[in-house]
Amino acid sequence: MPAKKRTNKALDVLAVGAHPDDVELTCGGTLIHCVKQGYRVGILDLTRGEMGTRGTPELRAKEAAAAARTLGVHHRENLGLPDARLEPIMEYKLAVAERIRALRPRVVILPYWDARHPDHSHACQIGYEGCYLAGLAKLDLSAAAGRPHRPHKVIYSTMYDADFRIAPSFVVDISPYFKQRMRAVACYRSQFRGPQRQRGIYIPLTGIEQRMATYCGYFGQLIGVAYGEPFVLREALQMDDIVALQGLPL
Ligand SMILES: [Zn+2]
Repeated sequence: MPAKKRTNKALDVLAVGAHPDDVELTCGGTLIHCVKQGYRVGILDLTRGEMGTRGTPELRAKEAAAAARTLGVHHRENLGLPDARLEPIMEYKLAVAERIRALRPRVVILPYWDARHPDHSHACQIGYEGCYLAGLAKLDLSAAAGRPHRPHKVIYSTMYDADFRIAPSFVVDISPYFKQRMRAVACYRSQFRGPQRQRGIYIPLTGIEQRMATYCGYFGQLIGVAYGEPFVLREALQMDDIVALQGLPL
């Protein structure tokens, strides 16, 4: 629950992704849920996905904006870091730190640190260290970035864990928003629709829908609901009311 109303335009939740469409596919339902709860929600895409086989950066930017409207989030921006060369270097961490100071999120969602795509694991490291650096009072960043700020919590999405090896710390029930989430993913027409000329690379939207239904259905099953999105934390969760614990009964 929100301890108090956040000041002016500070975000409650910021989801960070390596590529446009990552956050829709990993935590789109959770972002919709947060919006419905009245929180201010934003998305920070680190790259424009320019190394993708399909689509252009301009087209993907339009698709990302349409997806943001479908999710109902309050803010979305792209840092323009180089796709497929997302090395965890200080320049990129400081670029994230500037945005953390400017957007002032209480909770940040990052991709899980161990990932098949190097950009995803690097996005995790860049995102985490960016959050940490943003809180250092003596670290000079641009004046426009604002005063030091460190998010209260960083949580990590494990949706891309295709082998279901990672036990989630918690699962968010996204059942009421599953279709809306799918509509947001469908905004990326260049990625999931089009001619089948690039066979073996091209993923038809129906395939994505089936895959997401399988994934979200699996994680939903873990807590006894239709669809869910999984997250892990590095730290222990504080629990104030053990009687109010939810999830699958014994
Ligand atoms: Zn990605």
